[in-house]
Order: sequence, then C-alpha cells, then structure tokens
Amino acid sequence: MENVSKRYESPDGIVAALEGVDLSVGAGDFVSMVGPSGGGKTTLLRLIAGLETPSSGTVLVDGEPVTGTGPDRGLVFQDATLFPWRTVAENVRFALEVDDTEPERARHRVEDLLSMVGLADRADSYPDELSGGMRKRVGIARALAPDPDILLLDEPFSDLDVATRETLQADLLEIWNRLGKTIVLVTHTVGEAVRLSDAVAIVRGQPGRIETVVDVDVGRPRRRGADGYGEYVREIRTSIRGDHSTDGIANKLDHRPN
Ligand code: ADP
Ligand code: MG
Repeated sequence: MENVSKRYESPDGIVAALEGVDLSVGAGDFVSMVGPSGGGKTTLLRLIAGLETPSSGTVLVDGEPVTGTGPDRGLVFQDATLFPWRTVAENVRFALEVDDTEPERARHRVEDLLSMVGLADRADSYPDELSGGMRKRVGIARALAPDPDILLLDEPFSDLDVATRETLQADLLEIWNRLGKTIVLVTHTVGEAVRLSDAVAIVRGQPGRIETVVDVDVGRPRRRGADGYGEYVREIRTSIRGDHSTDGIANKLDHRPN
C-alpha cells in the first residue's frame, strides 16, 4: 500500500477511515493488524481485497494495482456468514461455482479443503448444526477454495472461547506452513498477533494510520512462555495505548517506512 487514504461519505459528513498508509507485506509473510475499533482495519483489508477503492494512493499486489476482487485474494469476513440452506460442502463449493470449476475437480477440491480445516466428516451438515468454531473453519475453507495467494482474515476468532480460539490459531498456522500463503490478519488480541505473526502493524484511529510495524523476532513454534513473547505483548499493548515512555522493545520499534 503506497500512501493510501480512504474517505467515506456518510450522512454525518466525510469519515477519514485511513490516511497516508504505507505498508508492505512480503510474499508468504504472516502480518497482523492491531488497534482500536474504528481505526480502519477492516477498510484496509477491503482495499486489499478490492472491495473498496482508495480515495488516493495505490494498492499493489505483485506490483499490479488492485482494480477489483480477484481469485488471488481470499477474504474471511468478520461475520463469516454461510448460506444456511446449503450444506458445509455446498458452502465451500459455492466459492468454486463462480469460478466455473469442472464438477469432479470441484468435488475433490472441496473434500481436500474440508479435511484441511478438520471438517471432512461434516461435509453434509448444515451451518446451524455446527459450533461457532466449525463455522469459522468453513469460512476459512471457502476463502481458500480458489487457491488465493493472499488470505485476508478480519477478526476471525474474536467471538470464540479461549480453547477453540487456540485450536483454530494452531490450525491456521499449520495451513500457512503447508500452503505458503501470504496472510494478513486483523485481530484485537495482541497475544494472538504475537503468537501468529512475523510482524504486527499497530493501527491508530481517526484517521487510521499505521503507526509502527513491529517485527516479531521469536522462534517458532511459539509458546506463551517463550523468550521475548511476553515482552512483545506488553510493549505492543503499551504502544496501542499511546504511552511511549517505557523502556524495552518499544524503543527498538522498527519505524520502517514500508
Ligand atoms: P475497524 O475495522 O478498525 O473497526 P473500519 O475500517 O470498520 O475500522 O472503520 C473505520 C472508520 O470508517 C470508522 O469510523 C467507520 O465508521 C467508518 N466506515 C467504515 N465503513 C464505512 C462505510 N461504508 N461508510 C461510512 N463510514 C464507514
Ligand atoms: Mg473491523
């Protein structure tokens, strides 16, 4: 994203959702966005997805300006809504129907995707027969169906209990490792961002800006007690609150332009 700004017109006037955002995500990287609600995080994902157009600046994928949605980018929406009248398999398959995939190939693809997200045995269930965590898994499988290079996730685990959330985090890491996707995740949980990401972008609201990008220099697999982990979480929380007086990682934050 090069100097990207996004303004919305609303009945109350113009909302500056993002202003002057520069962000670069390397191929295969896992980057998280954290920051206050209303800070423009969803807008940022929608711009990358091509669902919104920047008011100024440019969004580039592989060096090409984004002009709309495309199969190279998959978005898991904040409220991963499934079609209630379609089975799990049919919900995932829907993402391929718009793609005009040949039926037999589509069937295999859906099977593969469902086993990847641990739902091979729930293909014929309907969404209201699933737990919240399972529904999220279907949303992820659906976003992965067109085999995008970039997976965008908007607070995908926010309304889940801790145990389910941790299992899904581990599974997302596994998918990332296996498929080598580029992932941009929005979360309001700093611990989640530090556990999962190569870098955490701290967004500050009204208008939304990316204040800093913190490289998370902790080996994988990461555990809560691992060296540096807790320090990253604390410092990022402090930074979100806007208090820069503490010592530690905050002083070493990488104020890189991209
Ligand atoms: P976040 O995901 O960080 O909570 P959003 O990107 O959803 O932030 O919103 C950023 C700002 O833009 C908020 O002030 C929000 O009210 C406003 N906004 C988002 N979408 C629209 C829209 N379609 N029309 C008008 N204002 C919007
Ligand atoms: Mg949002």
